[in-house]
Amino acid sequence: MIAETAGALLGAAGVLAWGARGRSAQLFCPSVWRGPKTPRALALTFDDGPSESTLDLLSLLHTYGVRATFFQLGHHARRLPRTVRRCVEEGHELGNHSDRHHGLWLRSPQFIRDEIERAQESIARLSGAAPRWFRAPYGVRWFGLRPVLRQLGLTHAAWSVLARDYALDAAGIVNHVGPRVRAGAILCFHDGRGMRHSPDISATLGALETLLPRWLDEGYEFLTLSELMQTGGEAAQ
Ligand SMILES: [Zn+2]
Repeated sequence: MIAETAGALLGAAGVLAWGARGRSAQLFCPSVWRGPKTPRALALTFDDGPSESTLDLLSLLHTYGVRATFFQLGHHARRLPRTVRRCVEEGHELGNHSDRHHGLWLRSPQFIRDEIERAQESIARLSGAAPRWFRAPYGVRWFGLRPVLRQLGLTHAAWSVLARDYALDAAGIVNHVGPRVRAGAILCFHDGRGMRHSPDISATLGALETLLPRWLDEGYEFLTLSELMQTGGEAAQ
């Protein structure tokens, strides 16, 4: 009996863990994790910015004519308002990554609402456009997310490939991401490192200096997340 109860609890915990973190899970809120397989396109996304290093990333993207989607933290957006505007001026899309990057698991619905609303208000005010996409810190969704996202007109966006650029060096990122890329993929990199100020993102930049020309040679085009999800190709899901 105890074993059965323990088994049921473990099973429930497993479902909960999958619902919170699984890239295709829809348990706590609607969520996308990849786009259509045609056209041959990728959506580059960057989390945890803006940071003091975002301008270096913007100039790299500009060099290759690549546009991306930046999931920004409200805290950093208020710190670096000119960088927020610069992202928009260069044709990139902005998404909401919460205000201060707290994990949302085990948090109250009010806490979750405050984290998302505060970031949404800041990013909309500083950039002139309200984000359409939300990415939970660490990708972990939780109870209470669904009504807030619906009210703010946000959809959760997970990823197809997590670059692990916060942990690997440039060569490691290239080796990790390269073989996993397919048409329609949503790629998750980072132009910040959580709440850190002035983070070192040289590994991210170094990897992209190798990967961007390679992907362009392979015929990929780069779309913002909204553009990728609006393409009329064969549905991936
Ligand atoms: Zn993050």
